Amino acid sequence: MSTIYELDSTYIASTYKRFPVCITSGKGSEVTDENGKRYIDLGSGIAVTSFGIADEIWQQAVIDQIGKVQHTSNLYYTEPCARLAKLLCEKSGMKKVFFGNSGAEANEGAIKAARKYAAEKKGPEYYTIVTLENSFHGRTLTTLAATGQDAFHKLFQPLTPGFVHTPANDLSALIETVHSNKTAAVMIECIQGEGGVRALDADFVKGIAKLCAEEDLIFIVDEVQSGNGRSGYMYSYMAYDVLPDVVSTAKGLAGGLPIGAVLLGEKVKDVFNYGDHGSTFGGNPVACAAGISVMERIDETLLAEVREKSAYLFDVLGKSEGVNGVSGMGLMIGLDTVKPAGDVVAECMKNGVLCLTAHGKVRLLPALNIPMELLREAVAVIQEACK
Ligand SMILES: *Cc1c(COP(=O)(O)O)cnc(C)c1O
Repeated sequence: MSTIYELDSTYIASTYKRFPVCITSGKGSEVTDENGKRYIDLGSGIAVTSFGIADEIWQQAVIDQIGKVQHTSNLYYTEPCARLAKLLCEKSGMKKVFFGNSGAEANEGAIKAARKYAAEKKGPEYYTIVTLENSFHGRTLTTLAATGQDAFHKLFQPLTPGFVHTPANDLSALIETVHSNKTAAVMIECIQGEGGVRALDADFVKGIAKLCAEEDLIFIVDEVQSGNGRSGYMYSYMAYDVLPDVVSTAKGLAGGLPIGAVLLGEKVKDVFNYGDHGSTFGGNPVACAAGISVMERIDETLLAEVREKSAYLFDVLGKSEGVNGVSGMGLMIGLDTVKPAGDVVAECMKNGVLCLTAHGKVRLLPALNIPMELLREAVAVIQEACK
């Protein structure tokens, strides 16, 4: 197996600092490495494998579709693409869908929709998108510009112009920023993921929704990480009782296959015309068949279970030695630990539990259907590692 490490470090661009573990197989929330060591997976490939590894229902949906047709291009109709779009609209309150292949691509589409709407409605100079400090929206040059973390910006200038950042949870600062620019849209994550698993204040989110409605701005919610059941709600904005104009989503949507989706609400549902946007792989039938199998299973029963598991984690980890605080929502959890987060994650890994970090915190993103016994077993390992 050392040859895999050698091959990887010789031939793969050095953008990722990998753990010295090669995952070879898994089932549900358990994975196995090349030495046969078993881990409980609390990362889900960064909120992607919504129902765990090699889930039977998901697998069957993918296999069935691969046996029929794996790709057609967007010159033709396919059933999975149309059916997934309907499901997404029914479950989100949005009206139309554009499919891409990643979170960054979904956000690019959301930004294009907002800019086109504003250009037609108010004039092409109304192109500014207001986003939050500490946000994360992706790695393309435009979504990097949207990302409110300077550390990601260095050495990649010039980024796409027209993005300004304002502090989270400060509504008057946001309103001031909106008014001092020719603004097209406000774009937020209701629960900042990469920025440290922090749920925004309810008054702040409601205030943005109200401002956008009153001033005809496009309210974009980035649900790439928090969407599709992860927050304990179908989409995290539902916990805030607001309705965005545009929703972007990706990660967990197809349970482990690449997908991204821009969900367009009433105001912008017809903003795109022929030729305005496109993607060769977007709406791929295999990814969409996987997406249907995931979305059909996220019902009120499952969401209630996600909220119950969340309450358990908040409770038990909140009173654990070496834990200063628990943040997040649903099964998107951040732990502010006394020890450095990286040390806790390394110790957990040694003892058979895979966790993540985010902005100095330990981050947990288990599968939505992780069995309670496994969660308890993993929590005991985390508690020990935090001491
Ligand atoms: C992961 C993430 C993205 C980027 O998604 P990719 O699929 O890596 O392009 C965008 N926004 C949020 C909130 C994310 O968590």
